[in-house]
Amino acid sequence: MAEKRDYYEVLGVQKGASEDEIKKAYKKMAIKYHPDRNPGDKEAEEKFKEAAEAYDVLRDPDKRARYDQFGHAGMGGAGGFGGQGFDMNDIFSMFGDIFGGHMGGGGGFGGFSGFGGFGGGGSRGAQKHQGGDLRLKVKLTLEEVAKGATKKFKVKKDVTCSHCHGSGSQDGKTESCGTCHGTGYVTRQVNTMFGRMQQQSVCNVCGGQGTTIKNKCSHCSGTGVVSGEEVVEVQIPAGVQDGMILTVQGKGNAGRNNGYAGDIQVYVEVEQHSELSRRDNDLVYNLLLDLPTAVLGGPAEIPTIDGRVKIKIEPGTQPGKTVRLRGKGLPALQGYGYGYGDLIVNISIYIPETLTKEEHDAFEKMKGSDSFKPSQTTKNSFFQKFKNLFS
Ligand SMILES: [Zn+2]
Ligand SMILES: [Zn+2]
Repeated sequence: MAEKRDYYEVLGVQKGASEDEIKKAYKKMAIKYHPDRNPGDKEAEEKFKEAAEAYDVLRDPDKRARYDQFGHAGMGGAGGFGGQGFDMNDIFSMFGDIFGGHMGGGGGFGGFSGFGGFGGGGSRGAQKHQGGDLRLKVKLTLEEVAKGATKKFKVKKDVTCSHCHGSGSQDGKTESCGTCHGTGYVTRQVNTMFGRMQQQSVCNVCGGQGTTIKNKCSHCSGTGVVSGEEVVEVQIPAGVQDGMILTVQGKGNAGRNNGYAGDIQVYVEVEQHSELSRRDNDLVYNLLLDLPTAVLGGPAEIPTIDGRVKIKIEPGTQPGKTVRLRGKGLPALQGYGYGYGDLIVNISIYIPETLTKEEHDAFEKMKGSDSFKPSQTTKNSFFQKFKNLFS
């Protein structure tokens, strides 16, 4: 497959374009490249799909933010995130949003009812309905982010009716649809932005099947779904970031009459760690060192994601010094990078606020000593370090 074009470029809008501008730009594209206007034109069809995909991302604030941050990499391919490809059903289901009317989903490309459908009305969709998506929120500790986690949720949702196995029929018997007389289509005259047109649309009683269920299943009233519960296991990959959305495909509400199930969207929330903070894949720890250790050197204990460890403090350690423990940070999320980040220890030094008599006398003795007076080069390098730290 060819390299994906930038979504903003596809729609011909600026990066900061408003929702309204994006909507208008997409509407123009959708009309221009609509398959009904360009029958058999493969290039137009590709452009039509490309525009729809771009619009699907840019119209959704969450998806758009992710795209702005990660580009196409943020939209798919990375271990089941976001985009799972795009088909014509998705595109037509989106038209409701743009053109006001409700386009028939489920009918697919071939079953699309025609351009006249833009005027509104349109078909109510196929008998088979895609189940709705569900949303969940998962709270993770930094330790769970480091290792990845498996979370179980008890989810209340529409499940397939076990009595009719989702068909909605009591006995499997069907009869010819009275509305469309078995053809699966109904025809009517509609006024559209292109004048009066004859519109053929999928029969909304039988959903284009031409048949209806003779005896509806009494447990699900013929819908093929009932309210239920399911324990859903969600694999959280190591390295996820706060605010990310993971998609678990096919685990949302069951589709009516054996339609496709919806997805579960899992919103990731990462809890604050009591001592470590996160900067992308690096972890940061602020170490407040006691004065004798800073002066004389020695071991200091620091927290890591795998527990506490001791690091060696060099004699004469200055405040503002940073120690970098390579590979002791968080793993990069698969598809967003490789390996592990670092643990960065920022050292500050604690100056005692009260002293015993002996300590006080000891400091008095050192007061005149040259070792306690910084040289000009020490001063320069010290403040240079601070400048670097804040620039
Ligand atoms: Zn049933
Ligand atoms: Zn019918």
